[in-house]
Amino acid sequence: MTEQAQVMVITPHPDDAEIGAAGTVARWVAEGKSVIYVVCTNGDKGTVDTNMKPDELARIREQEQLAAAKVLGVKEVIFLRHPDQGLEDTPEFRKEIVRLIRRYRPETVVTTDPYRRYVWHRDHRITGQVTLDAVFPYARDFLSYPDLLEQGLQPHKVREVLLWASEDPNYRSDITNTFAIKMAALRCHHSQVGDELRPGLEERLIQRAREMAKGEDFELAEAFHRVEIQW
Ligand SMILES: [Zn+2]
Repeated sequence: MTEQAQVMVITPHPDDAEIGAAGTVARWVAEGKSVIYVVCTNGDKGTVDTNMKPDELARIREQEQLAAAKVLGVKEVIFLRHPDQGLEDTPEFRKEIVRLIRRYRPETVVTTDPYRRYVWHRDHRITGQVTLDAVFPYARDFLSYPDLLEQGLQPHKVREVLLWASEDPNYRSDITNTFAIKMAALRCHHSQVGDELRPGLEERLIQRAREMAKGEDFELAEAFHRVEIQW
């Protein structure tokens, strides 16, 4: 196994990672880190266009995600192509994530916080939960998947997990110098943000990034709940 990545970003839908973590991803890439994306669903329900067909939307959103990843310098995008609004916390989905963690052996895994209360997209809740379960204990333990071992996929210990959209952030990441790249990546998702970017969206995101950086010695931040894992 030679194709490793220092950071694995696991996103429910195309575009979630751009909103949640793209400024941080761009900074890591600038620092020389290798980052890969795993996109769990094909996003084929994400439209208000009544003429749009799901297959067509899925195809468009894959291209948009690839374009955004290119802007950010993400080295690879893996599409799992589960149906939008169709994720379940199943042994199969968990194993899919474990397989990728063992293959790419990231130090850092970034995903969505599953513990947002009340109204929270089910795909987000399930992606976050399944990813946390995959990190611990399933990716770590020898006996979890004997068949993966036979395929050469050795257990792996992730060092930290960063959860975006957390109601309980404990880590602010400096995106002052990469906010513009984040916006450029977000703009690639035309089907979601419009061809000209929805009015007011950039201003709202700047405002939020400023609030998240309050008390820090930098201007703009993305906020995460960070879990450092002591093995
Ligand atoms: Zn989403």
